[in-house]
Amino acid sequence: MQDCTFCKIITGEIPGEILHKDNKVVVFKDINPQGPVHILIVPTKHIESILDLTPEDNEIMGELIYRAKLMAEKLGVSEKGFRLVINTGKNARQAIYHIHAHLIGGRKMTWPPG
Ligand code: AMP
Ligand code: ZN
Repeated sequence: MQDCTFCKIITGEIPGEILHKDNKVVVFKDINPQGPVHILIVPTKHIESILDLTPEDNEIMGELIYRAKLMAEKLGVSEKGFRLVINTGKNARQAIYHIHAHLIGGRKMTWPPG
């Protein structure tokens, strides 16, 4: 998708610190980390937000969550815990309209979130 930052990272048009890539999901470091671990888990398919999902995307989203588990283990935050967040729309301050899950860990967090 033209002018999508995450599509450009996926194709290599702009750089990203990529930690994993397969044909369904890409993982890279967030440029503005909110914790010792802050990565983005992103489907290679350009889907703008959760509101655009169709049943045919179920497998992709399953892969995304499963990849979060594997990355949490790999990055050493599975034991103490982490947060997995998908911001959706204006009130949640979604900034990039290509679905992504934030995996944030390595520090204690508060609830409710800001
Ligand atoms: P969201 O508000 O959920 O749309 O979050 C977008 C996230 O993408 C923010 O945490 C940004 O720091 C991150 N971000 C924006 N541009 C880049 C980039 N070029 N590489 C890595 N992360 C980025
Ligand atoms: Zn995109």
